Amino acid sequence: DDQMNHLSEEIRAKVQNHPCYSEDAHHYFARMHVAVAPACNIQCHYCNRKYDCANESRPGVVSELLTPDQAVKKTMAVAANIPQMTVLGIAGPGDPLANPERTFDTFRRLSEDAPDIKLCVSTNGLALPDSVEELSKHNIDHVTITINCVDPEIGAKIYPWIFWENRRIKGKKGAKILIEQQQKGLEMLVAKGILVKVNSVMIPGVNDKHLAEVSKIVKAKGAFLHNVMPLIAEAEHGTFYGVMGQRGPNAAELQDLQDECSGDMNMMRHCRQCRADAVGLLGEDRGDEFTLDKIETME
Ligand code: SF4
Ligand code: SF4
Repeated sequence: DDQMNHLSEEIRAKVQNHPCYSEDAHHYFARMHVAVAPACNIQCHYCNRKYDCANESRPGVVSELLTPDQAVKKTMAVAANIPQMTVLGIAGPGDPLANPERTFDTFRRLSEDAPDIKLCVSTNGLALPDSVEELSKHNIDHVTITINCVDPEIGAKIYPWIFWENRRIKGKKGAKILIEQQQKGLEMLVAKGILVKVNSVMIPGVNDKHLAEVSKIVKAKGAFLHNVMPLIAEAEHGTFYGVMGQRGPNAAELQDLQDECSGDMNMMRHCRQCRADAVGLLGEDRGDEFTLDKIETME
C-alpha cells in the first residue's frame, strides 16, 4: 500500500483497518456517518446551508437529521447487518463540534454500547481546542480538520464570517481566529496521540498556490494525512459560484497540487466525499437500507 509506506508502525497499526486511511482496507472494511449535528459556527463561501457540510461530505446532498438516540439505534442495526462495519463518523450536516451535546451524547453511548467500533469526527476547527479533552475521553482516534489556509488574507476570501463568543466576526479578523483555533486544535490532538487528517478544499485563484505551504505546516505539526479535495462548483450548491463565478479545479490541476504536496506528506487520493449519512464500503451507499422506518422493524 504505497500511500502508507512512510507511516510509522504505530500509526500504521491504527489505520490498517480504517477504510478511509488505507487504500487496501477500503475494499474490506465499511464505515458509516450519522447526521446528528445540524448547526454550524462559521460560514464558508462554498457552503449552501440547505445541504450537508461541504468540508467532508458530498456537496449538494441533504441528509436525514437524526437524534443521538436514533443514531445509536441505526449504528447498532448497521453493525448487526454489515459485518465489515468498523468505523462510525460524525461529519454533519453542520459542524459536529458546534453541536457538542448531540455529538458527544452519540459518542458517549456508542463507546459504551459498541466499544469495538472506531469513532471519528470532522470539524472546521473553530471549537476544536475546547473539545479536545472531551474527544479524548471516548473511543475517538481520528479527527479530520478542514484547513483551507494559514493566512487570514486568503481566509477572508473563503470565510465571510465566523460566530465567536456570541458575536459574528467578519473578514480577516474572523479568519485569523479560525486559523489560530485550527492550528491550536491540531497541536492539542497530536499531543494527546489522536490521529489528525487534514482536508483542504482547492479553490482555483484563491488558495491553490497556498496549499503546498499548508501541507508543509500541518505535516510539521504532526498531521498524518492530507486530503486535498476539489471545490465542486455547481451553481445550485452554493453562493460562491453564483456570486463570484468561482470555478472548481480540473483533474490535472488537482493532481498537480496533490503531487506537489506529496513530497512532504502522505496524500489521500481515494476520499469519495461521502454523504453525511453514508453507509457501507467506500464507493457504495447502503443508506437506503437503514432509514429510520426500516431500522424500527429490524429488531
Ligand atoms: Fe458549511 Fe461545513 Fe463550512 Fe459550516 S463548516 S459553513 S456546514 S461547509
Ligand atoms: Fe472516508 Fe472521505 Fe468518505 Fe470521510 S468522506 S468517510 S474520509 S472516504
